[in-house]
Amino acid sequence: MNRQFSNREASPPRQHISKLAFLLAGILIAVTSASLLFVGYVASQASDQQAIANEKRLFQHTLENQKYRMIREQLKVSHWDESVRNIIRTFDYDFVRSQIRGLWKDYSYNKVLIIAHGNQVLAESFEDYTHIINRPLNETPGYLPLVEKARALYMSNRVRIPGGYSHRSLQGLEPPQYAAVGFIVIDDKPALATAMPIVPDQDKITLPAGQPVILVSAKFIDEEMLSSLNGQLSFTNLTFLRDVIAAPGSPSHFVRDANGQPLGSFSWQSRALGSSIWPTVIPIVLILSLLLAVLAFGIAWRIGRLTSSLQASERQNRHLALHDTLSGLANRLQFNRVLKSATDDLPASPFAIIHCDLDKFKSVNDTHGHAAGDTVIKAVAQRMTDIIGKGGLVARLGGDEFVILYRGFTDRGRLTLLSGQLIGAVEAPIPLDNGKTAEIGLSIGIVTAPECGSTPEGLMAAADDALYYSKENGRGQAAFARDIKHLFAMSVSGAEDDHTSDAA
Ligand code: GH3
Ligand code: MG
Repeated sequence: MNRQFSNREASPPRQHISKLAFLLAGILIAVTSASLLFVGYVASQASDQQAIANEKRLFQHTLENQKYRMIREQLKVSHWDESVRNIIRTFDYDFVRSQIRGLWKDYSYNKVLIIAHGNQVLAESFEDYTHIINRPLNETPGYLPLVEKARALYMSNRVRIPGGYSHRSLQGLEPPQYAAVGFIVIDDKPALATAMPIVPDQDKITLPAGQPVILVSAKFIDEEMLSSLNGQLSFTNLTFLRDVIAAPGSPSHFVRDANGQPLGSFSWQSRALGSSIWPTVIPIVLILSLLLAVLAFGIAWRIGRLTSSLQASERQNRHLALHDTLSGLANRLQFNRVLKSATDDLPASPFAIIHCDLDKFKSVNDTHGHAAGDTVIKAVAQRMTDIIGKGGLVARLGGDEFVILYRGFTDRGRLTLLSGQLIGAVEAPIPLDNGKTAEIGLSIGIVTAPECGSTPEGLMAAADDALYYSKENGRGQAAFARDIKHLFAMSVSGAEDDHTSDAA
């Protein structure tokens, strides 16, 4: 196997860096988008709750207004000298009927009661139909708490005047200081009711001592009242749910009756519950995610590009460090490494070094120019590689000097044949770019290991000697180092010179 391949350094897993960069970019985008959506969700929840709280405040305010409006409407009957005269001082049926009828006609009161001391109901109406009756109030106990509260308020506001009693001026009083208002149940229907004493407005007539006469008026919580409440609110699906206690965070308003017992809840569909924040949040999240994606993937792509260009440049550097730029063969550095490794494997793996130098190469440069010389070097490199194949490593040491570390075999006969092939291949005319051909030769020196040495330096010196011998003895031939050694030994011992070599 050609050692030049086994000598490659392991490439660090740089391609993972770009994959990692893309992965991190993806995670970054996912985490950021999720965070933005979470923030959006939290903000939307907070905004929904805020909106519901605002709606609840608005409803409560509207309900208070409704109560005050009812009190003001009652005052037209209850705060009037004529009423004191015609209801308390005397009981004028026609007056009573007309006033009660007026409350139905003008303000749509479903129920109106006039209650004297001892909780006697003097008159009672249902819409515009008035009964003048004398019945005890405890037959309809729902009214009692309001009536009692109205009496108590009267007692605290009553003032003594010449000839009897009157009521403190309403000017300086808030409605809850002189009128009772609250939710009650009449005929098993929830209603909003007011109760207040009948008092003079001009003080041209006085009130008798004792308990006041109370005017009670009620409106059922029906469609009419709901649409009146909703007049300014414009809530969707405003309803009253009897005996339902809605969840605290829901769009609703819970009420108790005048006895303090749970009555039910006004409920509506909140405008907030369309998550109105999402139409704003989603595009922002999308735009930010998109920007982030472009940025992150741009950076990841750039890292990927840099990584692959670094890898390419590293591959190129490694190749340049170990190869001859002109021929593409292994250079001296690579050859030395492979040779060192081969000598380390001795004696288990024998090999041969085939040291070559072109004959008369300079004349190619001189005759055809340096570029033609380069063409010849490249052609020789190719021809040698074709012959050696995977049996060894062909290297160019410099100039016109090549060396082969051959592992295929080390016996003299086959190495002689291989050398003959190499010489024949190089001697074949080499076509040049100028249309002419170059003809050169090849001299070879061969050393085998471990037979002739086992160190890189010793083996290279022996191969060099053998090459020198080939050159000196006529070129175009191969010499074995062991023959040179033998001849050298013979000449030193004074033996007759024998120039017979094993030249191929
Ligand atoms: P010999 O037969 O004794 O080997 O002589 P030679 O003409 O082959 O010349 P020698 O081996 O002494 O010298 C090699 C010459 O090769 C020297 C130099 O001008 C030339 N040379 C060295 N490197 C390059 C090269 O990269 N390109 C070219 N074109 N010529 C080179
Ligand atoms: Mg030469």
